[in-house]
Amino acid sequence: MPQHSVVHGSGPAAAAAETAVEKDARHVLHPWADLSALGEQKPLVVRGAEGVRVTDTEGRTYLDAIGGMWCVTVGYGRRELIDAMRAQALKMPYYTPFGDVSSEPAAELGARLAELSPGDLNRVHFTTCGSTAVESAVRIAHFHFAARGRPEKKHVLSRVDAYHGSTYLAASLSGKAADRTTFHYEDGWVHHLESPAHDPDTSSVPAADHLAALIDRMEAEIAAIGPENIACFIAEPIMASGGVLIPPPGYHEAALDVCRRNDILYISDEVVCGFGRLGHFFSSEAAFGVVPDIIVTAKGLTSGYQPLGAVLVSERIAEAMAAAADRSKPVFSNGFTYSGHPVACAAALANIEVMVADDVCGHVRDVGPYFVRRLRELRDHPLVAAVRGDHLMACLECRVPGEEDGPTARNQALAQRVDRHCEEAGLLVRPFENLCILSPPLVVTKGDIDRIATITADALDAAEHDLR
Ligand code: PLP
Repeated sequence: MPQHSVVHGSGPAAAAAETAVEKDARHVLHPWADLSALGEQKPLVVRGAEGVRVTDTEGRTYLDAIGGMWCVTVGYGRRELIDAMRAQALKMPYYTPFGDVSSEPAAELGARLAELSPGDLNRVHFTTCGSTAVESAVRIAHFHFAARGRPEKKHVLSRVDAYHGSTYLAASLSGKAADRTTFHYEDGWVHHLESPAHDPDTSSVPAADHLAALIDRMEAEIAAIGPENIACFIAEPIMASGGVLIPPPGYHEAALDVCRRNDILYISDEVVCGFGRLGHFFSSEAAFGVVPDIIVTAKGLTSGYQPLGAVLVSERIAEAMAAAADRSKPVFSNGFTYSGHPVACAAALANIEVMVADDVCGHVRDVGPYFVRRLRELRDHPLVAAVRGDHLMACLECRVPGEEDGPTARNQALAQRVDRHCEEAGLLVRPFENLCILSPPLVVTKGDIDRIATITADALDAAEHDLR
């Protein structure tokens, strides 16, 4: 019984008369919500979606330049995915994935992901989302070293500005200062290397010098912790939620080389950068020239139609895990009731089919550079400190004229204002700190991109007008 029903004393009839917006405002505790406005916010309650557009409960339609949450790739309303989910639910909606039990969709998807993945990353451990996949990847690294008789190899290297999720360990791996609130975090064995971000537009340091310094400091940090204590390094190819932060060319190859020399596993978090956002199913090798030991994927894996995560593991690692030195503890005690849920795996299989049939990755390689070019035209706007992007992920950094760069209160308020103007004009972007993040569905057309660029430019002009 919700506490509000006593206070309001209005009974089921009045509750039924409440709109979804009112019910949501009174009862739903949102992820990542500003609790200072609890109960007072007017949430956007989305009722319908088709193609690249969503419609709210008041009938307003928006071009969704967030792609749900970086995840809706093939667009909304794809019958192929919906039919596959329905057919699987009718045939067998759920069965346990534990031990030596599986379902047909999980088996098929495991094989399909092994075909699509680089190198020998042929073993797939399914989870429920990106955070649980990140946690599982680190636990795989731990299990692997314990199996090799090296249980002291436990420490994890992450990076400042990273985002890896919202469960305890994934949040601890994340490295954005603003994300760290009053929760507890694991700091004993999680270390954050500096952010590798390099923006050639704004940096006075040449990319090659920046890279050399980053790698020197990475090696120094490893020496200080002791490579014998370090299990893995985790990195997004491009830091997404950090603000589409792009490392200098050669960074991932050099970091992988450092990892190899120190017997540290390299985990690539492709939760955002995989499944087409950068024009490839997996971007580590295709876009950055590295074959990691482990790849984490989620989001675009099902185009957001179902929650699902997957950890792709090298055969070499899986074999070492299986040949566990400690035969008294052979069970890989990690996994969830809904790991590799059959309906989610059916959605993922249909999603991959659609992506291949429609050559969605090829489409992204075609329209992605146009998207970045159109947004970069906004670089000279007085309220824009920087524009960064790669294929279909981009970010605008807002700055009040005369204000310092970064997430100051005034810059954050400005980003919110730009977001509001976009929304009023029928465009959803994602405001975060002083950033406006854009990651449209991958099926976005050049016409949609023009609309995104025009509305964003108009929103910046309107926000500038507000400041006068
Ligand atoms: N890793 C990255 C790079 C992400 O951007 C996210 C979510 O945004 C996650 C992991 C966590 O994924 P989920 O929200 O599905 O748990």
